[in-house]
Amino acid sequence: AQSRRDDALGLEQTIETEMSVLLREVDQSPDIDALKSKVQTRLDAVTERLRDFRETEERRYAENERRAGELNEEVRQLKTRTAQLTELCAAQEKRLLIDSLTGVHSRYAYDRRHAEDHQRWQRTGQPLCYSIWDIDGFKRVNDRLGHEAGDRLLRAVAELLTRHKRESDFLARLGGEEFVLLLPSTSLDLGASLADRLRRVIEAATFQHKGQREQITISCGLTQAREGDTPDDVYDRADRALYAAKEQGRNRCVIA
Ligand code: GH3
Ligand code: MG
Ligand code: MG
Repeated sequence: AQSRRDDALGLEQTIETEMSVLLREVDQSPDIDALKSKVQTRLDAVTERLRDFRETEERRYAENERRAGELNEEVRQLKTRTAQLTELCAAQEKRLLIDSLTGVHSRYAYDRRHAEDHQRWQRTGQPLCYSIWDIDGFKRVNDRLGHEAGDRLLRAVAELLTRHKRESDFLARLGGEEFVLLLPSTSLDLGASLADRLRRVIEAATFQHKGQREQITISCGLTQAREGDTPDDVYDRADRALYAAKEQGRNRCVIA
């Protein structure tokens, strides 16, 4: 636009100059033939300048068209790329929320969910039950059966807990052979009986390994969010209860 303005200004000046020279020459010219030739020269100059201007305009227009086409293509590519990246981010986020070994919620998903449930509990006063689970003697199981069988067993335990928990309860694997189960809107009494039912499901289950039947047990520390608690306080209390369950002989739920 700037170079077009400059060119238009140049053209205007050329025409003005040529015209004023022409007027002066008309004034001063004594004979008609000399005048004719001078007029012709001036008109030629103006015509030439006009042609230049039009040619430059056409070149500029073509160049603008080309650049606009390029920019359109760039915008199209950027839109495609943005859509791909948005999709990738959503897929990655979804993957982060799942524990890859067992398919239950991940620790990342749990951190968020616990914070949300804790806030809901503070807002509504609806009880929030909280439990941590740890498979008993899992190191021995691994040593005896191998790490791969240990992984299969972990998956089987996660599946049993998932199948027997309530729809509204939230199960995540914290790491190793440790799980957390959040029981929203659940009193401590009800939470305790649900937790013990889950514990018995694991106790009663038999797992097949190379034709052998394996049995395992699990311990649980259970608590409830209390006035003044932070999410970490709740976790610590449940963890201490879990430790007590181990101390008291394992395969049990201890309430704190
Ligand atoms: P306790 O009854 O006191 O809980 O004993 P434990 O042997 O279960 O506890 P400890 O914490 O000593 O051992 C946990 C073992 O779990 C250690 C490791 O062999 C095993 N483990 C941790 N993560 C994984 C995993 O992702 N896959 C498998 N197969 N084993 C794991
Ligand atoms: Mg452990
Ligand atoms: Mg253990």
